[in-house]
Amino acid sequence: MELQETAAKVLRGERITPAEALLLHQRADLATLGLLADEVRRRKHPQPVVSYIIDRNLNPTNVCVTDCGFCAFYAKPQDQEKGYVLDRETIYRKVQETVDVGGVQILMQGGHHPRLDTGWFEELFRDLKQRWPDLHLHAMSPPEIVHLSHVSRISTREVLRRLQAAGMDSMPGGGAEILVESVREKIAPRKATTEEWLRVMEEAHGLGMRTTATMMFGHVETVADRIEHLDRLRQVQDRTGGFTAFIDWTFQPGDNPLGDELLAEGWSKSSHAEYFRTTAVARIFLDNLDNLQASFVTQGAEAATLALRMGCNDFGSAMLEENVVSSAGCFELVAVAEIERRIREAGFAPRQRNQRYQIIDRRGPAPLEGELEQVGAAATGRGARWVGAKG
Ligand code: SF4
Repeated sequence: MELQETAAKVLRGERITPAEALLLHQRADLATLGLLADEVRRRKHPQPVVSYIIDRNLNPTNVCVTDCGFCAFYAKPQDQEKGYVLDRETIYRKVQETVDVGGVQILMQGGHHPRLDTGWFEELFRDLKQRWPDLHLHAMSPPEIVHLSHVSRISTREVLRRLQAAGMDSMPGGGAEILVESVREKIAPRKATTEEWLRVMEEAHGLGMRTTATMMFGHVETVADRIEHLDRLRQVQDRTGGFTAFIDWTFQPGDNPLGDELLAEGWSKSSHAEYFRTTAVARIFLDNLDNLQASFVTQGAEAATLALRMGCNDFGSAMLEENVVSSAGCFELVAVAEIERRIREAGFAPRQRNQRYQIIDRRGPAPLEGELEQVGAAATGRGARWVGAKG
């Protein structure tokens, strides 16, 4: 009965409580969750369109002092063999390659290098903006901002202000993992705390920057921890409205201490069903967030395609490089044509977007009206009207 009432609340468009989100995750069957999440997505995105972006994940350094248990990407500062800092010419070449294939954004994140300070990143951003003024710099993450504030001995707000003035356009929501301290203490005790992560996000929003929010789950946390994480995000979004999108993915074991430890204890990796349940609950619970991204890099193209019926309205990025996740052995480079095929397969029209989720379609003309109507009819059972952009 309780479950039915919660489902009815979702269908009426009412906000659900954390306790109701937990109930849905624990008791609703996957088909019901999918149906509810799809309904919420359809309300927010009536056009049967799924977007994606062409960008490149550029990691200027993998040197890091933070030692997160789940990370297979980083090198300790004394590790001369694995550690690197990209030189300018390499960075320029990577950016030019991105622009040459229609890329509109660089997603820049990296290790917490003990000697690269705020000034180093300011100079880098200025140089990039001078060469490619239209390129969108989706850069850093709250833990990197916290780290720079320690290295440069200034406040996180000042780090953000200086980097924004140098060309940082928006900030990815990396390093959130699970925003519950008891979990962070186990998997990333030296990383930014929950309060720091959330505070940096609010500071960025206060400066007019848009950011994304993420969640990496399926390791040591409970489902209640996931809901608490979503609740913290929803509270920030109520105050600022600064999150453009939410992206979740499951923890990937492989060449990292946390994975080895968990596997030795008999733990098993989250199934696709668990990914779908969590994603669907996130779509239902985060009623103030417009966009949910499917994560094909970690889940694979097939599961990501199914996630489009679990509340996701975006296929993420046709990325040219993904060092952090590929180091853990799950690299899935999905070409643009493949992304578009998958999106069509799920009954939607694929459209290229920018970081603000505005449709740009630089690569070619928009689909013909007839084509879209056909896709729309398949997806919703009725004809679709084309609207040029969504925010
Ligand atoms: S996840 Fe980031 S902060 Fe943590 S060890 Fe890896 S590079 Fe460093």
